[in-house]
Amino acid sequence: MANRARILFRLNMPNVGSHNGRWSGEGRNYIIVRSLPPKQVEELGIPKSWHYSWGDGWGAGVSARVMKPGDRKPKSDGFCGYEWMVDNILRWGTPYCQHQWQPDANSGKPGYEGQWERCIFCQTSRRIKEAEAAARPTEGQQAGKGE
Ligand SMILES: [Zn+2]
Repeated sequence: MANRARILFRLNMPNVGSHNGRWSGEGRNYIIVRSLPPKQVEELGIPKSWHYSWGDGWGAGVSARVMKPGDRKPKSDGFCGYEWMVDNILRWGTPYCQHQWQPDANSGKPGYEGQWERCIFCQTSRRIKEAEAAARPTEGQQAGKGE
């Protein structure tokens, strides 16, 4: 649709892990272009950049800008397998998946002992018992509070 804005998303890795100090994708052009309704462009606040951290020293940056009508998409080396970051940005305005859990049909099967649930978006699965434990103080912590 002529009315949609072409948005150029670029991936970079500003923080590299310590194991070799270098990201193998360095120097490449990781770009994808998505067409969005102007309203969504405004809501996302584009031009904008986002940061994603894996919590182990690795991080990724995604920046977005509006392409001008005559602009050609630059030569791209794909998106290094991180298209899901852009999908999350378009869905939630952040590269982080806002998990929505539903019971996992694998529950009770080998490798999935106990009750499991799975995110309907990113397919991450977790054991419900563990998830509940993370959300609540442990018994030991509760006992300690009154002392
Ligand atoms: Zn998820």
